[in-house]
Amino acid sequence: MDEGQDIAALRRLIETSQRGIVFTGAGISTESGIPDFRSPTGIWQTSKPIYFQDFMASSEARQETWRRKFLTDPTIRAAEPNRGHRAVARLVREGKISAIITQNIDGLHQASGVPENKVIELHGNTTFAHCLDCGERYEIDALKAVFERDGDVHDCVACGGFIKTATISFGQAMPEAAMLRAQAETMAADLCIVLGSSLVVYPAAGFPERAKRNGAKLVIVNNEETGLDRMADLVIHRGIGTVLGSAVDVN
Ligand code: NAD
Ligand code: ZN
Repeated sequence: MDEGQDIAALRRLIETSQRGIVFTGAGISTESGIPDFRSPTGIWQTSKPIYFQDFMASSEARQETWRRKFLTDPTIRAAEPNRGHRAVARLVREGKISAIITQNIDGLHQASGVPENKVIELHGNTTFAHCLDCGERYEIDALKAVFERDGDVHDCVACGGFIKTATISFGQAMPEAAMLRAQAETMAADLCIVLGSSLVVYPAAGFPERAKRNGAKLVIVNNEETGLDRMADLVIHRGIGTVLGSAVDVN
C-alpha cells in the first residue's frame, strides 16, 4: 500500500468505528524528545532495566534508580505533546476514542488536553513519587534536593517505607484498577489503534491482542515491525505524527 492509500484506509477505519481505543507506547513520545526503550537510539542501548525485586532488596539498586530518574527528569519535564498526541486528543474530543490505554509514564496525553479520566496508565506516572507501603505522596523536586545533598533519597517520613516514582517496574504488580478499566474498554471497542509500541511488554500488549480476538479492527502505526503485525488489519511502518496527523487533519 502506498503512502496515500494507507492514510485513506486508516481514515475509513476511524470513520466506520463507533467506539475506538488507542493504545500507546514510548514511540508516540519520541517526537517530543523522550527516547524510547527498544529503538536503535533507545535507552536500552546504554542502560538495562532495574527489576522491582532488586529495588526492594538493595540500597544500591534504589540509589541507581534515583540517579537515573534525576538524570532523565529534565527531558521529561521539557517535553511537550507532539502532533501524534494532538491527533489522539482530537479523536477523544470528537467522541471517536473512548479511552487511551498507555504504557507511557510521561503524562503527555493529559498535557495535550485529554481529560484525566480518559487516560488509563498501565505503568503509572513518573511525574511524582509515593511510599510503597503507605502511599504517602512525595514531589520529585523535594526528593531531588535531598538526593543532591545526601547522595540518596530518604525513606518515608510517615512509615519508613521505600519511596519510588509512581511507575511500575519490571517484576512489580500491575495497578489493579487500571487493568480492570483497560480490560472493559478493550472488550467494548470495535477499533484499536496502536501507536509506537513494540508490543513485546506483557501484560500491556495483551490488550490490543484481545481487542482483535474480540472482533475489533486492529491498526498498528510503528516505525519497526511489532509482535502483532501479522494479526493487524492495517500496519503502517512510518512516523506517528505524520501518519495520524494526516489521517485526522491535525498539525
Ligand atoms: P518500546 O521502546 O519497546 O517501543 C517503541 C516503538 O516505537 C519501537 O518499536 C519504535 O520503532 C517505535 N517508534 C519510536 N518512535 C516512533 C515514531 N515517531 N513513529 C512511529 N514509531 C516510533 O516501547 P513500549 O512498547 O512502550 O515499551 C517499553 C516500556 O517503556 C513501556 O512499558 C513504557 O512504560 C516505558 N517507557 C515509557 C516512556 C515514556 O513514557 N515516554 C519512554 C521510554 C520507556
Ligand atoms: Zn510510608
